[in-house]
Amino acid sequence: MRPELSEYTPIYSGKVRELYAVDDEHLLLVASDRISAYDYILDTPIPDKGRVLTAMSVFFFDALGVPNHLAGPADDPRIPEAVFGRALITRRLDMVPVECVARGYLTGSGLKEYRANGEVCGVPLPAGLVDGSRIDPPIFTPATKAAVGDHDENVSFERVAQDVGLELATQLRELTLDVYARGADIARDRGIILADTKFEFGRSSDGDLLLADEVLTPDSSRYWDGALYEPGKALPSFDKQIVRDWLTKESGWSTDAGTPPPPLPGDVVERTRARYIEAYERISGLSFADWPGGAA
Ligand code: ATP
Ligand code: MG
Repeated sequence: MRPELSEYTPIYSGKVRELYAVDDEHLLLVASDRISAYDYILDTPIPDKGRVLTAMSVFFFDALGVPNHLAGPADDPRIPEAVFGRALITRRLDMVPVECVARGYLTGSGLKEYRANGEVCGVPLPAGLVDGSRIDPPIFTPATKAAVGDHDENVSFERVAQDVGLELATQLRELTLDVYARGADIARDRGIILADTKFEFGRSSDGDLLLADEVLTPDSSRYWDGALYEPGKALPSFDKQIVRDWLTKESGWSTDAGTPPPPLPGDVVERTRARYIEAYERISGLSFADWPGGAA
């Protein structure tokens, strides 16, 4: 018999994920099917998104070969039926309050900063880069976690060192760039570009620094289709573009409307769901039909 979700104490509810205490040392990390676009959580969920993102995290935790917070398999008996396939048992860590971002391509908030002052998070970059330019070698561009509803704030390495100490800051930078390189290699072998990504690390009770949170999912990473990339050309998001295109080109809604986006039509939901599954299957080489929690 699997436990009921109500037997666990809820400790945190994020935009798309929820955290429960399983016991003093373990957490249940649950991924919902909610999707965000243009800073809104949409009213329409994408079926199976939570399972796909959980599957992707597990694939990468396995493939990366760095110490991480997983404390059980996807079918762990401590996982309640209600969230089976989209939840994981993890060790409960003392989280390092730094969003550890690595960028191998310039776009998004990195591009904005570069245009303003030629650097990103205090890292100077060569002149003449454009949206989508490759950054070689990749750079560590940390951010501080914003309160719910706010954007994370890009900060310099020096600021991280002030906050957590130079030794830990240096470790975070090395780990982040190392894990990014491993993830980007795996994706590249499958024809997918990992433009940038965000990791979180935490400290175990034995003092080990472990890779935590979700890892290399489309929600924490920018994936591009390698076949479409040309140097200096930023690409649409592999996973969210169908939703964004529909919202801004077909729904009649506009990003500066000041109102939440309308519900998604069924075909947009279905195509987006297929896109997530495609991303998982392409990158992992595994079949999503084999992932736990699917319709029997
Ligand atoms: P968003 O990521 O959408 O900006 P958020 O970070 O507030 O929002 P989530 O990412 O959904 O929300 O929440 C997951 C939370 O769980 C984060 O605060 C993360 O630091 C925390 N977390 C992840 N792994 C662990 C762990 N092993 N131990 C303790 N906390 C963890
Ligand atoms: Mg988060």
